[in-house]
Amino acid sequence: MIYEQARYTEGEDKHEPLLSEKDDTTINVGGDDSPLPDSLTRDELSLPALSEPEIARHYTRLSQMNWSIESGPYPLGSCTMKYNPKFTEDIAADPSAAIHPDRRAETAQGNLGMLYGLQEFLGTIGGMDAVTLQPPAGAAGEFTGILVAKAYHEAHGNDKSEVIIPASAHGTNFATAAMAGYEVVELPSAEDGRVDVDALEAAVSEDTAALMLTNPNTVGLFERDIVEIAEMVHDVGGLLYYDGANLNALLGRGRPGDMGFDIMHYNVHKTFATPHGGGGPGAGPVGVVEKLAPYLPSPQVEQTDNGFELFEPEQSIGKVHGFSGNWLVLIKAYAYIARLGDEGLLDASAKAVLNANYLASQIDLEVPYGPFHHEFAATAGDRDAADLAKRMLDFGVHPPTTKWPEMVPEAMLTEPTEIENQASLDDLAEAFNIAFGDSEDAIQQAPSRTTAKRIDQASAARNPRLSWHRLK
Ligand SMILES: *Cc1c(COP(=O)(O)O)cnc(C)c1O
Repeated sequence: MIYEQARYTEGEDKHEPLLSEKDDTTINVGGDDSPLPDSLTRDELSLPALSEPEIARHYTRLSQMNWSIESGPYPLGSCTMKYNPKFTEDIAADPSAAIHPDRRAETAQGNLGMLYGLQEFLGTIGGMDAVTLQPPAGAAGEFTGILVAKAYHEAHGNDKSEVIIPASAHGTNFATAAMAGYEVVELPSAEDGRVDVDALEAAVSEDTAALMLTNPNTVGLFERDIVEIAEMVHDVGGLLYYDGANLNALLGRGRPGDMGFDIMHYNVHKTFATPHGGGGPGAGPVGVVEKLAPYLPSPQVEQTDNGFELFEPEQSIGKVHGFSGNWLVLIKAYAYIARLGDEGLLDASAKAVLNANYLASQIDLEVPYGPFHHEFAATAGDRDAADLAKRMLDFGVHPPTTKWPEMVPEAMLTEPTEIENQASLDDLAEAFNIAFGDSEDAIQQAPSRTTAKRIDQASAARNPRLSWHRLK
């Protein structure tokens, strides 16, 4: 049974004043007895003179105004908002993890061994021959991967100017191709929601540098023609790029490398339970087939007779991040994969797929296409998907992604992930169904039980307040 979220009552937006608004006393720090030169000290610092409990309560209240995966279900399609098991935090907090990245390799064997192990894990999971851990996010991984493709084409004298991307792809795919200097060729979807093979046939040419694809795609459909698609791209000397954001559906069951993909990124913060949201940090390692390995960013970790060492690939595109990437995030991904093992990863993909299909079967909204993998796009029909999403906020769940991908009108892209049990999937279905069955009037009043109620989105977009000014 879902409950109406009881933390905040109907009516006014809840307001939590800034600490400086609660108390504007200025306290004195430093002063005459400071050992620092006068030019570096100040007599007055306007910090609010509040007690520790007042400050603790302030931040706790702020955290409660925010939705999180630890508050309840968070089925934000495509984003994979998964719970992050705490043991990975313990491992990342181990003092031996906090070493300087410039330490000599022979004094950091354990840490380098872990990076090497993660390269190996990811290579095995994706069916890739070499992996870089450097990119700090999926989008950065895409950009790295396409720069690697470009370096490969340039080194082989291939004159290529276009990257083909399905219309249903994530916005970062288009941005990546454009930033790497390619023309984007947009591919329409076929009636069944998959890649239109005839349209692809017409689009590929000697100019094709790469096709970027996610599989299952952004409405959770497996591209059944993937082998034929790969052949078409390879026949014109193009490369096949795999957007790994949907890897949860495939873990242990299918490998992009075996399907014919040449390059892929892994969103470790989506698939391997490292925290994300709120702007990061994440990590977007990139795997490639053998012929592309010489172009990967530097450094890579290798295992030699002397142990683990860092090396620079011969024709490296250079650096895309400092050192080896977001080290603490990578530790968590390593710990998660190691703890789950083969059986656990198979279990994760089974539950990701089962949960999405179960939820899709329990909601009153129409769900076009199917059968699904880890996510599905329901349609709000003649209702506004964003309005329904706001109503769902009243029931202690996070709503799905709305109005994307555009191939489903008024889409509600829903990805429950493998972490939810049947009871919470039933809660989610109930929230969907109440919102869908509500009168238009009730919908327009929603949300009524959140910190902030109806937000004036037009003003927020047109007159954003992007900086904070001290009041006095
Ligand atoms: C999340 C996502 C990305 C981008 O990944 P980030 O790690 O958020 O930069 C790319 N493609 C798809 C399909 C995604 O869902």
